[in-house]
Amino acid sequence: MAKQIKSIEKTKTKSKWNSFSLKPRREVPEGLWVRCTACEHMLYKSTVEKNLNVCPECKHHFRIGAETRIKYLTDEDSFQQLLADLKTEDKLGFKCRGTTYKQRIKDEEKKSGTKEAILIGKAFIKGRGIILGVMEPNFLMGSMGFVVGEKFCVAVEEAIEQKLPLVVVSCSGGARMHEGVVSLSQMAKTSATLAKFDETGGLFISVLSDPTTGGVTASFAMLGDIIIAEPGALIGFAGPRTIAETIKVELPEGFQTAEFMLEHGFVDMIVHRKDLRSEIARLIDYCQK
Ligand SMILES: [Zn+2]
Repeated sequence: MAKQIKSIEKTKTKSKWNSFSLKPRREVPEGLWVRCTACEHMLYKSTVEKNLNVCPECKHHFRIGAETRIKYLTDEDSFQQLLADLKTEDKLGFKCRGTTYKQRIKDEEKKSGTKEAILIGKAFIKGRGIILGVMEPNFLMGSMGFVVGEKFCVAVEEAIEQKLPLVVVSCSGGARMHEGVVSLSQMAKTSATLAKFDETGGLFISVLSDPTTGGVTASFAMLGDIIIAEPGALIGFAGPRTIAETIKVELPEGFQTAEFMLEHGFVDMIVHRKDLRSEIARLIDYCQK
């Protein structure tokens, strides 16, 4: 009996010792895996990145930052940024949730590595010169304030001046509430500038990525001569609950997805991220721009 107890104790002690081993543990380094938000598969981050940040299991298109988007879309090192240093001014002295808009801008700059929610510039796509605008979802959810509107308009003016097609990839939560009516007026400003572009016969290809919502959907994103969406992208104006409460109608399932928009004529085509470059090049050739 005594022998038996001794042996159990020995085992217990041993197992305890093991669990407190001082040997370095072979843990999975942080950020090596990523869970797909659509199909919930655990995926190797490097595999996803090699696949242009698209889930290899279910083709879910992950949200990507502006710099990554530019890398995927343009010919190597061809992007020349314009107005990189244009920064927002806090004209209203806006305060929100215990912080100031000025401080928020500083934090967002650090987080996103960019100075605003859109990057504009000149680039090549498969050898075709374009003026490119790419929204940055990591900067205040790609919201449109004065600087975004201004940079967008400068991109349009450049496209007119240089007789180049304009390609803009939207990814936005809408107008930026921190700038109040100044941000809302960007909808009119960007739309009017695009009307001028249209009069000169310019080609505007609008690419909608997940999500394209609010004031961006209600202005330039939907004014493309050709509107392309990424698969599964959320596209809409207001959130489903707001709409349901306002119009008191039950909304159809998935009514704010790229696929639903295509079916109802709001979007011209849905293009997989891997085909976006060649599709844009093909469209530019087709429109002879
Ligand atoms: Zn997936």
